[in-house]
Amino acid sequence: MENSQFTELKQQLTSPKKIVVIGHKNPDGDAVGSTAALGSFLKKLDHDVTVLVPNDFPDFLKWMPLSSEIDRYDKNPTHAKQKIKEADFIFTLDFNDLSRVGEMQTALIDSDATFVMIDHHQAPEDYAKYMYSDAKMGSTAEMVYHFIDRIGMLNLIDADIAANLYTGIMTDSGSFRFPSTTSMTHRVIADLIDKGAQNSTIHQNVYDTNSPDRLKLLGIALKNLKVLPEYNTAFITLSQSELDSCSFKKGDTEGFVQYALSIKNTRLAAIFIESRKDKIIKISLRSKGGFSVNQLARDYFQGGGHINAAGGKSDKSLADTIIEFISILPVYQTALCNE
Ligand code: 5GP
Ligand code: MN
Repeated sequence: MENSQFTELKQQLTSPKKIVVIGHKNPDGDAVGSTAALGSFLKKLDHDVTVLVPNDFPDFLKWMPLSSEIDRYDKNPTHAKQKIKEADFIFTLDFNDLSRVGEMQTALIDSDATFVMIDHHQAPEDYAKYMYSDAKMGSTAEMVYHFIDRIGMLNLIDADIAANLYTGIMTDSGSFRFPSTTSMTHRVIADLIDKGAQNSTIHQNVYDTNSPDRLKLLGIALKNLKVLPEYNTAFITLSQSELDSCSFKKGDTEGFVQYALSIKNTRLAAIFIESRKDKIIKISLRSKGGFSVNQLARDYFQGGGHINAAGGKSDKSLADTIIEFISILPVYQTALCNE
């Protein structure tokens, strides 16, 4: 986004506005962190702010300061639609395509509000007047920090906002290890710690909250792990009955796919998770180096994301989805094996 647009937006935000801040469906640490932080920041500027996500987020994010102030569309659609209808501004965070908000999409399409996008996914849709989109950024939370910086208000970041932004940056960067992590990311993180983010406690709150059932499920996932050395690929499956046997709760499979990617020489990793409720197989894809799982997800699995982390779905059975996945690997043989 041009400097002049940041200035224009800052000017527009000098008088109280009705604002809705929206995150994507199945919100992750970055979606919860960036929306809650931006919402709290905008409230400090005396705006009437609603932070809205389509559905629930995992328990391991519920400790986050300000997360209790996030409204859920699925809990009260009438209230959410009213807020969207009244809004002067709608900030959409951590997604690049309105279909990522599920049923809430219709209300957004019908809205007359001015849209502001803050997002780091590739190939953004063109729905926002103010489009702060940067696929080189590791997280939307880092972008919210830069947004606040660009409008000259870093002094308004308090300990709660700092903790939310820290969590978003930490979770989307695999704890600062993915290639999108830059020296600037670490400078932002340093400032957030100075502003009160309790870094060690945040890591514990997110990563040291396993239930015995979740670890049992991880055991099943690792048992199901298949390696295809000829394609430098590894994948995991979890059927609905396996999830049921471990009393699956939202968020329990978060990070499992990373185990497949951790196998030496693996460039492509996937996890296929059956959902009886949605009648789909939810797919998470991860890669190392230049192999684009965003493209793979777009081409074959109705999804998208980033070069090294993407997601999608399949309407086939779990077994047929795996057959399809294996059958498309030869298409990518050169990219997977010869780089
Ligand atoms: P995850 O595998 O953790 O669910 O998602 C990894 C990345 O891919 C995230 O950045 C997420 O936004 C994106 N992603 C996941 N599922 C989908 C999907 O169904 N469609 C699109 N466009 N992106 C997705
Ligand atoms: Mn993100």
